[in-house]
Amino acid sequence: MDRTPKIRTYSSCRPLFVEVDQIYHLACPASPIFYKYNSVKTIKTNVIGTLNMLGLAKRLRARILFTSTSEVYGDPLEHPQKETYWGNVNPIGVRSCYDEGKRMAETLMFDYYRQYGIEIRIARIFNTYGQRMNIDDGRVGSNFIAQAIRNEPLTVQLPGTQTRSVCYVSDLVDGLNQLMEGTDAGPINLGNPGEFTMKELAKAVQELINPEVQISEVENTPDDPPQRKPDITKAKEVLGWEPKVNLHEGIPLMEDDFRQRLGVPRT
Ligand code: UDP
Ligand code: UDP
Repeated sequence: MDRTPKIRTYSSCRPLFVEVDQIYHLACPASPIFYKYNSVKTIKTNVIGTLNMLGLAKRLRARILFTSTSEVYGDPLEHPQKETYWGNVNPIGVRSCYDEGKRMAETLMFDYYRQYGIEIRIARIFNTYGQRMNIDDGRVGSNFIAQAIRNEPLTVQLPGTQTRSVCYVSDLVDGLNQLMEGTDAGPINLGNPGEFTMKELAKAVQELINPEVQISEVENTPDDPPQRKPDITKAKEVLGWEPKVNLHEGIPLMEDDFRQRLGVPRT
């Protein structure tokens, strides 16, 4: 029997005998292939899980930080996306378990703040990549880097002109810590505003890791947002935060880690 604690059930967070003053609530698969795999569980994690974490924060009088997502902006009609933008989300699509789940969790956070005075912090995280990522995570950064190392074609999903802005994990972790320690409830965008098409990203990985590797075009999945770029003015003003690691520095750092775990040293 799987006895791993689950935030979807009360008992998982009940027996606490230590002093807790901060809760980082990051639970939820974030890769589309994983969050779509059991969409009902994804919704439960975001809605019931967040409710339980807020109940826990209320009982312990702890500050709680929730990691929301750029997916709350859906297929954005505003570019780049500011925190004031309400989003354009399909409520019944295959990605809704994640993006509507995160939106509901943000609502719960603010209602617990208004009704019970719980100290909340909300980060809206844009695409992140870096060392220690699951090699078979399925997201674009880990796919391209693993494919380049294995000399398998880089799978650019069509049309390939869709954009993302990818932030290195160490920058993101700094942003989360600064948000938790600061005074602003958020939501605050955390991401790297450097925007690339998926074709450009594939070319960068090809150039940096394996100039011989092929680039292939494959079918995309439904409701894939055509563009995504954070406006990080608020993070700069409120937290004094901005990313430090650019793509040409981040890819080799992730490559080193992936090579070590895949057992494929540089030649
Ligand atoms: N909760 C939890 N652990 C706790 C405290 C509460 O999992 O230490 C859960 C509780 O089961 C409830 C949710 O958090 O479903 C919200 O708690 P709250 O106290 O706000 O609601 P109530 O229990 O009054 O319905
Ligand atoms: N993508 C791609 N090749 C892959 C995986 C993803 O071209 O092997 C594209 C995907 O179509 C999307 C972007 O990369 O436009 C980001 O997808 P990912 O799953 O990494 O994260 P998302 O932003 O969808 O949560």
